[in-house]
Amino acid sequence: MTANEIVVPAVDLYSDTVSRPTDGMRRAMAEAEVGNEQAMEDPTVNRLCDRVAELLGKEAAVFLPSGTMCNEIAYRVWVDRGEEIILEETAHALHFEAGGPAALAGAMCRTLKGERGIFSAADLETVIRTRGGKHGQRQALVNLENTANLGGGAVWPLAAVAEVAECARSHNLKVHMDGARLLNAVVASGTLASAYGQLCDSVWIDLSKGLGCPVGGVLAGSAEFIDRAWLFKHQFGGAMRQAGILAAAGLYALDHHVQRLSEDHANARYLAEGIAAIGGLSVAVDEIETNMVYFDVETGRLDAAGLSARLMQDHKVRIGAMGPRRMRAVTHIDIDRSGIEAALGALKSAMETA
Ligand SMILES: *Cc1c(COP(=O)(O)O)cnc(C)c1O
Repeated sequence: MTANEIVVPAVDLYSDTVSRPTDGMRRAMAEAEVGNEQAMEDPTVNRLCDRVAELLGKEAAVFLPSGTMCNEIAYRVWVDRGEEIILEETAHALHFEAGGPAALAGAMCRTLKGERGIFSAADLETVIRTRGGKHGQRQALVNLENTANLGGGAVWPLAAVAEVAECARSHNLKVHMDGARLLNAVVASGTLASAYGQLCDSVWIDLSKGLGCPVGGVLAGSAEFIDRAWLFKHQFGGAMRQAGILAAAGLYALDHHVQRLSEDHANARYLAEGIAAIGGLSVAVDEIETNMVYFDVETGRLDAAGLSARLMQDHKVRIGAMGPRRMRAVTHIDIDRSGIEAALGALKSAMETA
């Protein structure tokens, strides 16, 4: 196999980012009205931004090429060099954004330990600097991740966000929500996206995860915040041209792919229940709230990397290894119940011969 040859899994549970645009989405993209996005002249992008701003209960929004850029621009706006961002220790921005907070915003990252990625005002209080003086750095921002990815797709209860936001404000901290999977949290909990959004100073949704778009994220906040965000969008090379082709996918997804996230959640739970019945694997079924299933391979058998390789080789089922014994399966729009059955069959067979 050459480096450019790609083996396509039959069932790909590696991530919801692997979801592909549907035929309907592709048609909407093909038919999109477009203009120069960089000059704010793309009508489809403008419509998407207005729609997401309203959805998230904010004044304005900006379309960006990725969720990572949504986080990094927000950090750049809120944090000056040497200032602190407080994040839960499993935060995506700490582990999977190539050091962006330090490289791009010059931020110090202070971590706290929550429970499955979620923390309380009391947890936040433990990292508040009370004796700064001239030699303590300023704390600028609190980062919340909803759903919490490494927390197993856990949903922030609205009351927990409210409590942390109130505590943050009492210490003059801004609140940023990494909402890569916010709409999963919304569908799972029945909480309005705007209720979450109104508690935060900045918030974004990813279009290329569960919503099934090829590209993009939308960052929302006050009009003043979005003005500043535009400056860094240019600076980071994120200003685009006829981006309406991409925004059309986002509008299509907001019309057609939000409520169906509940199917992904039901499939994740069904997968977890099946995994719980397979010898050598363990999973906390009760903790499956959205579309992620983290599970462990017991010691003495294949390790996670070995199981992942065997699933792919023998069954064309892709499930990622997240640690020596930890695996992660993520359900999404391209996986139906028969895909879950196939994955369970593959796991069972791989573990029986392990
Ligand atoms: C995927 C993800 C991001 C980054 O989004 P991209 O669109 O992949 O750049 C940020 N935060 C969380 C929690 C994510 O899962």
